[in-house]
Amino acid sequence: MSTATSDAGAGTTAGFVEPTPSALLLLGQGRDLASERGVECPGALPSPSDPDLVERARAARAALGDSLFVLGHHYQRDEVIQFADVTGDSFRLAREAAARPQAEHIVFCGVHFMAESADILTAPDQKVLLPDLAAGCSMADMAAIEQVEEAWEVLADAGVADSTVPVTYMNSSAAIKAFTGRHGGTVCTSSNAQVALRWAFDQVGGAEGQGTVLFMPDQHLGRNTAVLQLGLRPEDCVVFDPRRPGGGLTAQQLRDARMVLWRGHCSVHGRFSARNVSEVRERVPGVTVLVHPECTHEVVTAADMVGSTEYIVRALGAAEPGSSWAIGTELNLVRRLARQHPELDVHYLDSTVCFCSTMNRIDLPHLVWTLESLVQGRTVNRVVVDADDAHWARVALDQMLALPGL
Ligand code: SF4
Repeated sequence: MSTATSDAGAGTTAGFVEPTPSALLLLGQGRDLASERGVECPGALPSPSDPDLVERARAARAALGDSLFVLGHHYQRDEVIQFADVTGDSFRLAREAAARPQAEHIVFCGVHFMAESADILTAPDQKVLLPDLAAGCSMADMAAIEQVEEAWEVLADAGVADSTVPVTYMNSSAAIKAFTGRHGGTVCTSSNAQVALRWAFDQVGGAEGQGTVLFMPDQHLGRNTAVLQLGLRPEDCVVFDPRRPGGGLTAQQLRDARMVLWRGHCSVHGRFSARNVSEVRERVPGVTVLVHPECTHEVVTAADMVGSTEYIVRALGAAEPGSSWAIGTELNLVRRLARQHPELDVHYLDSTVCFCSTMNRIDLPHLVWTLESLVQGRTVNRVVVDADDAHWARVALDQMLALPGL
C-alpha cells in the first residue's frame, strides 16, 4: 500500500465525492487508496489553453535546478516528454531515479506503480511526485493484494504453495511486489521475464521439474515467455481468475499446472489482434511486424519479432533504411519513433487509435502545476510506500537486480 500526500493547503478537497462500492469512480475526483486509479488530485491547474504553459514549465524547471529530476516514460505525450531529463521504460526510469541522490524532488511522468517503485529505490529524503494521482495502470489494478493473498490460500489448499514461486511484473502495485518478496519470489520486466522465470523454476526443481510459478498480473507476458522462451506447453499454463471461487480452477488443475497465470492484461496491448497482423501484411508488402510481449499469444506468434519497449526503440534504431515496420505498442511511442526515423516506413499495427488513457492523464497543465508548486515550496502529489511494503518490495526488486543480464 502507498499513500499520496500533498501539502497544497486548504480547499484542496473541494468537490470530493465519497465513492461507494457501486458508484462510477470518476478519475481524479474520488479517493480509492486501495486502487491504482481514482485517487484525488488536488489543486487549481493551469488552463490547458494557456499559451504560456511551455514557458512556465521551462521557467519552473530552471528555478528548481539540480534539485529536480524529471522522468518521462516512453508512452508519455510529446508535450510532457520534452521536459524529461531521461526517458525510458518503467525499470530504467526507477534505476535512473536511484542514481540521482542529489535530486530532492523526482517528478515521475508515468503511472502510479512506477512512482511507487521510484520511491522504493530512492533515498528516504528524496520525494517522488506524480503530476496526476489518477494516472494509474489498469493492468496493475487487476491484481489487488487481498485477491493475491486469497489466491495463495487456494494454492496452499491444493498443496502446491510450498512448491510455488511468485513472479510479479514490474507493472504491479508495491503491495504485490512486497507479497512477492515475502514469499521468496522476484519482480521481472518485459526485458528479463525469461531469466526471471528460469530463476523461479530453478528454486523449485527447474523448468522440467514439478514446481510452479504464480505469474502476476499479466497473463500474456507470462504465457508468451513460458511457451515461447522456456518451451513449456500452452496446456502447462492455467489462468487464475480472482473473481471466481478457487480462481475458477480445480485443485487438480492447480497441481498439474507449471504456470499459474493471473487473469490480468494490458488494456492497450490486449487490443491488438492477429487480424491486425494479417491486414498490415496485405497493406504493406515486406513489412516487419514487431510487437510487445503484453500482446496476446495469438498476436505474438503471428508477428515477426517481439520485445519490450526498450527493445522496440533499439530495433528501429538499428533498422535498415527504407525498411517497413508495423509496431504493436502504445501510440505515443510509435508516433515518436516514426518522427525520429524518417528513413523508415513506420506503421501503427492497429487501424484505430490506441493510447494508454491513464498515461495520457499526465499533461502539461498537471506538470506545470507540480513544478510551480515546488517553486513555491509546496510538495504536491507525493507518492510514499509504507515502510513494511517498501522493505519487502525492495527484497523482490533486489532479487531481480541480482538476476544475470541486468
Ligand atoms: S500501457 Fe498498459 S501496462 Fe502500460 S500503463 Fe497503460 S494500461 Fe498499464
